[in-house]
Formats: sequence, C-alpha cells, structure tokens
Amino acid sequence: KEEAMDTEAKEALLEKDRKYVWHHITPHNENPMVVVSGEGSWITDADGNRYLDGMSGLWCVNVGHGRTEIAEAAAQQMKTLAYSTLIQSHVPAIELAAKLNEWLEGEYRIFFSNSGSDANEVAFKIARQYHHQRGKPSKHKFISRHRAYHGNSMGALGATGQAQRKLKYEPLGIGFTHVPPPYCYRCPFGQTKGSCETQCAQAYEDAIMWEGPESVAAIIVEPVITGGGMIVPPDDYLAKLRAICDKHDVLLIVDEVICGFGRSGERFGHHNYGVRPDIVTMAKGLTSAYSPLSATAVSAEMYDSFKTNGADSHFRHVNTFGGNPVSCAVALKNIEILERENLVSRSAYIGKELLSRIETLGEHPNVGEVRIFGSAIGIELVEDKLTKEPAHAATVAAIIAGCKQKGLLIGKNGDTVPGFMNILTLSPPLSTTDDEIAFIADTLLQVFEAGAGEDGR
Ligand code: PMP
Repeated sequence: KEEAMDTEAKEALLEKDRKYVWHHITPHNENPMVVVSGEGSWITDADGNRYLDGMSGLWCVNVGHGRTEIAEAAAQQMKTLAYSTLIQSHVPAIELAAKLNEWLEGEYRIFFSNSGSDANEVAFKIARQYHHQRGKPSKHKFISRHRAYHGNSMGALGATGQAQRKLKYEPLGIGFTHVPPPYCYRCPFGQTKGSCETQCAQAYEDAIMWEGPESVAAIIVEPVITGGGMIVPPDDYLAKLRAICDKHDVLLIVDEVICGFGRSGERFGHHNYGVRPDIVTMAKGLTSAYSPLSATAVSAEMYDSFKTNGADSHFRHVNTFGGNPVSCAVALKNIEILERENLVSRSAYIGKELLSRIETLGEHPNVGEVRIFGSAIGIELVEDKLTKEPAHAATVAAIIAGCKQKGLLIGKNGDTVPGFMNILTLSPPLSTTDDEIAFIADTLLQVFEAGAGEDGR
C-alpha cells in the first residue's frame, strides 16, 4: 500500500467529481476510484491502494505505466514543434508512417486520426470513395458481425453489433449489416469446433450475395472479437474471408485497435492468420495510450486511385489533431520500447504462462470456457456447464469484486442483448513480470475457489 491522499483533500476532489464529471458508460458513479499514479503493471488510487492493471486500462497500456522515456520524448517534441497539420508534413509523422509499414509487413499509406472510432470512420469513407473512383459507386455497404465493437461514432457504431450500445442513438450511419460471429462455444450454426466447415465464414459470402455484391464496399472484422467477449474464430476463418472478398471485389478492413501492437502475440492480429488486409485500423497500443492517436493504413494499390484524377480524387477528410507531432513522437518511442524489450514475443509468453497456471479453472462449475489470443484472455462464466446458461450479473460481479479486493483489476465483456456480460477479460501490460503473472493466476484461482463472499459478492 502507498501513502493515501489526505482525507479532506480526497473528499473535496470527490465532491467536484460528483458535481462536474460525466463518467463514461457507467450510470452516475457516486464513489469512483480516483487513480493517481501508475508504475509498470500497477496503478495506485487516492487511498494508496495498489492494483495490478489486468486490463491495461482499456486494453491499451501495452508497455505499462510510468515510462519516463515516453514522457521525455513528448516533452522534447512539444518544445521542438507542438503542432502542425498533416496538410503539410512533419518529421514524427513521416518517421512513424515508415515504421508502421515495417510493422505491417506490406506497403500501406497511413492516414492519422485521434481514436479507434475515427480510424474506422476513415476506413469506411476511403472504402466508399475508392469504389467510386473505380466506377463502382453502388458499392457502399459494410458487413460486420454481431457482438463486434468498432467504436462510438455514428458509422463505427453502425458497424458495431451490440444492440444495447445502439438502441437510444439510432438511426446510425446507414449501409451496415451484420452476420453471426464465429462463436465456437455457442456456434450460431449448431456445429462443433474442429468438425465444421467454418460456416461462420460462409455466412459472410451469403450476406454479400443477399445484399448483392455490387452494393457491398467492404467487410470489417477484428482478428478476434475482443470487447464482444474474446471470441476466437476457427484458424482458417480470416483466410476464408480474404478469399470471399477477392471473389466479390469487396475490401477487407481489419480492426486492430485492440489486437495490434503485440497484444495478439504477433505484431498485428492478422499476422497470426497470415492474411493481408486492404485496410488496417489501429489505435490504443499504437501509443500505449500515453497520448491519443490512431491510424488507418490503406494498401498502396488502393491509395493509387486517390491520386489519378487531380482534385476530383482527393480524400476530402481532415482533422485538427490527427497525427499530432507529440502523439507521433510518443508512438515512435512506444514502438521502440516494444521492439527493444521484445514485448511482442513476451505477450505470447504471458498468455501461455497465464493459461497454464489457471488450467484448473476449467473444472470450476462456473467456467464454461477459457479463450486466449496472445496475452488477451477471456473466461466465459456460466451458471451451468451443461446448459451453458450465461452466468448471472451477480456471479460475474462477485469474481470481479473478489479480484479487486485482492488487488487485481479485471474486465467483463460480452453483449447485454440478447446475451450477458458474462465473459471475464484480462489483457495485462506486455511488460508484466513473471512474479506478476503468478500474482494474477494465484489471485484468480483463490477468488474462484472462495466463491461468493459475505458482502453479497
Ligand atoms: N475498435 C475496437 C476493436 C475497439 O475495441 C475500440 C475501443 N474499445 C474501438 C474500435 C474504438 O476506439 P476508441 O475508443 O479509441 O474510439
């Protein structure tokens, strides 16, 4: 435990919080945890409690907290040049775009924005304009998956496949349809993993045919559905989607907002499946969230069509902060750390190590399935292993509270309609040490073993 903030000072802060801060996603939160500092895999709250940040914030602090060299890179860039648009160019954006090409292992043009949602909006606009420029303006629709999350803005939320997030904000961007997710544990096609024909991929082709290929611009997928419940597809799924896209002249957009920058155990999640997307979107781990930045990487072949017709083929999209020099300098330092400390391969190691340490959880009556992608782990909770009835909110809350009480923060994901938020998630910093891996695993095992606690957990 660290030194606690003075009680009066904390109360005064909370008073202001209650009066002025609009918290994200949660209903009004009277007594939020006030986080004051972070170091490595740990964060500290105003009461001096330390917690292992088992979700790296929102799946984003890949290099861990408290990296002074990133702070120094940001300060240096602020002193040199705090701002320039990308109507011109600047050194950190040039260097970063080149570095991203190296990481992507392909030739891509990089369009910088501020958030994952922005990066996806840019992808949608570029995809539509690309088809226009090839004389196929009717190709305007996007197909994504139920349970997917692609962002909070009208287009990205349109692509999102979670009803509860959309209900009060519709109508959203139009032209988005959805197919069932590759959810082997609850296969939408009633099949069993390993003995199916990957009908979930075929569903994409069926949807393209139903909509009419001449109306479909692109499909968008995460390599695995993360926020929708760590839904890991069959191994050949993404390659099948690539082939379907090629057959119907449909673009493949891969959303690497969470899976990128090592989370998957490779540099990008699509590398795990050996597939080359037409567009890759990224954010979060790009800067490890030390500063807001996102990017839309567009294949060089596609980019060519944006320079053939003079002003007529310009991509008419600009944003003030996208590719901010300070954020680009932060991203460059962040990637330097990922490379220097071999954090991409460490990510794969962390996942495997955690999985082997929590193997016995599979026998717990509330654990339906444990799924893993690199260092991202999902533990699907059920009330009954046979019926697979999703765990009730109280069961999920009990485990989360039990972990918090022992100093481990974990997440919950899924979809509230028609399912539940019954999948516990973990995505610790890629710098997590062996001792910390043991701490995470031991804590989980103890909490599951203890079951519900006295305080209604
Ligand atoms: N895509 C995916 C896969 C995401 O998980 C998220 C955010 N969790 C987004 C897009 C949107 O990113 P942002 O919150 O930065 O807008």
